[in-house]
Amino acid sequence: MPVPGLGPYDDNNIFARILRGEIPCKRVYDDAFALAFHDINPQAPVHVLVIPKGRYVSFADFSAGASEDELAGFFRAVGAVARHLELDQPGYRILANMGEHGGQEVPHFHVHLFGGRPLGPMLAR
Ligand code: 5GP
Repeated sequence: MPVPGLGPYDDNNIFARILRGEIPCKRVYDDAFALAFHDINPQAPVHVLVIPKGRYVSFADFSAGASEDELAGFFRAVGAVARHLELDQPGYRILANMGEHGGQEVPHFHVHLFGGRPLGPMLAR
């Protein structure tokens, strides 16, 4: 069993297929560095996924391997998506699951953007 978030990039993972347009998504934002679309199983009134255009398995991979332009472009895109969705006021939460303990399921780095209601404690206890 490969460790989620580590190991080689799988070009057939679901987000790679969404990036290639092979699987539809409800797109909210698209630029040179990032694509954002609604999560198929939303955990909040707003639940959007923001993914880099590059082939990065996880945050560990992205933070170590992405160029300065990719890092800056991606994180600026996350902020732009939140502004586009008018979430700056009253606020939102971003989250990235990494690896086994993080509960990462899809092996293409992604940031979850949650909003639309008070989001409660950071983690279930
Ligand atoms: P992870 O657990 O890897 O951080 O989150 C993966 C997320 O991808 C989950 O919230 C899941 O609902 C979402 N997801 C899985 N498959 C699809 C899909 O085909 N389309 C969309 N829009 N979201 C997906």
